[in-house]
Amino acid sequence: MRIVLLGGPGSGKGTQAKMLTEKIGVPQISTGDIFRAALKEGTPMGLKAKTYMDKGELVPDDVVIGVVEERLSKPDLDKGYMLDGFPRTLPQAEALDNILNARQTSIDHAVLVDVPDEELVARLSGRRTCRNSDCGAMYHVMFNPPKKEGICDKCGGELYQRDDDSEATIRERLTVYNNQTAPLIDYYETKGLLRRVKGVGPINEIFAAIEKVLA
Ligand code: AMP
Repeated sequence: MRIVLLGGPGSGKGTQAKMLTEKIGVPQISTGDIFRAALKEGTPMGLKAKTYMDKGELVPDDVVIGVVEERLSKPDLDKGYMLDGFPRTLPQAEALDNILNARQTSIDHAVLVDVPDEELVARLSGRRTCRNSDCGAMYHVMFNPPKKEGICDKCGGELYQRDDDSEATIRERLTVYNNQTAPLIDYYETKGLLRRVKGVGPINEIFAAIEKVLA
């Protein structure tokens, strides 16, 4: 099953993607995670991406599309995959369709995790992420706190606030989302692929709603 996950920054799509990965066993491909890993390694691509990420802007399409095309040619994707954070612009969505057409495959579902803007701001400013890139677990100081402050329940790693989760950057990311990414909702709706899920409420209920639209 090939799935695109859509939703604003902080909509919980990353958390849901991780849960889905465990349940249905297809890899999560997160372009944000790929950029953060590249930055940690200090590669030129990672350093270039950081200049955009820190401002809450999108990394240029040609860079992102190249990264995704390379990832999609790896051999671990026979059963499908979940794209988390890609596509984020119409040119990216069209490039993805072209890449898949050339392989005679296509996207099966585009799941929109739908959350109002004000809720997104509240969520992102309290978000904490595990620094251990093999784990990447996410918490929220109010809605989903770790058992011990600042420490990951799963791996004992240090929790930190991402540079792009500051309030000013969050507002910019939301504007970018509404201008550049939200048009993808129509794009996938027109293709009959959009599955809309309300992204507010307990994480497990949202997960159940996602499973239902994928069934
Ligand atoms: P995320 O972890 O998905 O919230 O992504 C963090 C940041 O990485 C975004 O704010 C962008 O700067 C960059 N990024 C991730 N995915 C994309 C994409 N598909 N297109 C452009 N920029 C992206």
